[in-house]
Amino acid sequence: MRHVKLILGDQLNARHSWFRAPDDRVVFVLAELRQETDYVVHHRQKVLAFFAAMRQFAEALSAAGHQVRYFTLDDTARFRDLPEWLHSVLAEEGADAFSYQQPDEYRLDEQMRAFCRTLEMDSDVVDSEHFLTGRDAWNEYPNSRLEYFYRALRKQYQVLMDDEQKPLGGQWNFDADNREALPKEAVWPEPLRFATDVSDIDGMLQRHGVKTLGRADPRALLWPTSREQSRQLLMHFLKYNLASFGRYQDAMTPEGWSLFHSRLAFSLNSKMLHPLEVIREAEAHWHRHQDEITLAQVEGFIRQILGWREYVRALYWQHMPEYGTRNHLRARRALPAYYWTGKTRMACMAHAIGQSLEYAYAHHIQRLMVTGNFALLAGIDPDAVDAWYLGIYIDAVEWVEMPNTRGMSQYADGGLIASKPYAASGQYIRKMSHYCRQCAYKVNAKTGPDSCPFNSLYWHFLARNRETLKGNARLKLVYANWDRQNPDQREAVLNTAEHHLSQINKL
Ligand code: FAD
Ligand code: SF4
Repeated sequence: MRHVKLILGDQLNARHSWFRAPDDRVVFVLAELRQETDYVVHHRQKVLAFFAAMRQFAEALSAAGHQVRYFTLDDTARFRDLPEWLHSVLAEEGADAFSYQQPDEYRLDEQMRAFCRTLEMDSDVVDSEHFLTGRDAWNEYPNSRLEYFYRALRKQYQVLMDDEQKPLGGQWNFDADNREALPKEAVWPEPLRFATDVSDIDGMLQRHGVKTLGRADPRALLWPTSREQSRQLLMHFLKYNLASFGRYQDAMTPEGWSLFHSRLAFSLNSKMLHPLEVIREAEAHWHRHQDEITLAQVEGFIRQILGWREYVRALYWQHMPEYGTRNHLRARRALPAYYWTGKTRMACMAHAIGQSLEYAYAHHIQRLMVTGNFALLAGIDPDAVDAWYLGIYIDAVEWVEMPNTRGMSQYADGGLIASKPYAASGQYIRKMSHYCRQCAYKVNAKTGPDSCPFNSLYWHFLARNRETLKGNARLKLVYANWDRQNPDQREAVLNTAEHHLSQINKL
């Protein structure tokens, strides 16, 4: 008997039950494939990090006594796609059984199902043993908002709960204690960077003409590419960042690129780390250091992983594939060129995009309230916005990227995730960042060519989408405020927005 088991590039879960003990009937196969480098233009660091992590994972499995076959791009370039390569591997191995782990992306899930239908041997699909909820979790909490979903999981997994099944500290949510702007004198820890030499992979990408975006130093890749490095990053976060995580979660400054954020999303999404492992470590660390770390900080962190991460996945599987076509606000404009270069006079955009090109990373509020907010206000086509986010970030995998982009940030799902659009004027960015001081535009001006584009575009967005949004109770006051403004002022604001839109590529 020869049993081939496929491990996809984002299934690097060393604790999976597949790997409990070596079995000489089983061979694990992993492959670098052009279909994966090419389905969107990825950041170079992202391709390097995924391939490096896959290679190290395969080596670790071999070292543990498993039979593993690893196929580089050199080996697979002649195959059109994953199924064609798999057919050849199964034939070479003389396999009589095939297994794979449930893919997290709809595109791969469909491809693998279709592939298995063509096989004349036993095949099965097993759980990836990574998530805390099933793909059908949405059915258990239908139409629920994040808060109830998160509370149910807190109870189920006994996270930050007391003996009477009440949330520790007497409340579920400490948002009110968090989300401050950075004070002028604030200091934050140096981000822990690794320096893995991935020149061989980079050379291979060059040889094969793989198109990528962004910058990379292949002699010193800063992202973790093994479970050990991922654990180091987790420990570094707990020791140096957790104590201020929630407080400055929404803060932005041109002086720093990750502040108190964990940068764990790549390790989580490639499954080098398990979400419950991260949650339990954070909880235990807080228990040991309650004198330094408030409950609000650790709750704020755990909510992102136990709440948001599981929640967006449930939503993705409930609504795919139709979710990927949603465009509730009928946004059609092309993505401005500076999303690919960072060359804009808007300081907030230049920094958020610039650091994304430099590090394949921006933190949540930069993604949501700067680049995402601008795209929403300017009416950029969500297909283009999705493709940009799916390519540029180290942690971008469709199941988590799409609900965050199309849903949370672009409101293209009509409010499934967000109860109102995350639209904001320059005042939000001024309050939460140090960007506006360095900007060519005036954050307090709403009209005129030098006024902050976010200001007039904000009102233009609300005015042009009024028919669609007017029934939203959470926008009632906003529209009342707009209606109270003097008609000449309203017209001047809308004209300014039209002016900015007419030269959107030159802002
Ligand atoms: P931290 O701020 O340290 O948070 C800790 C962890 O919580 C993250 O590592 C992540 O696993 C989880 N998390 C936090 N917020 C979310 C969220 N909204 N949804 C799901 N998980 C969350 N996250 C991705 O993992 N991949 C993506 O492709 C992605 N695309 C996004 C696109 C847009 C437009 C927006 C607004 C958000 C996106 N997010 C995405 C969510 C979030 O921005 C990132 O998870 C986070 O910035 C990653 O950085 P970090 O690891 O330092 O996170
Ligand atoms: Fe961004 Fe406007 Fe502030 Fe400039 S003034 S940094 S464009 S919010």
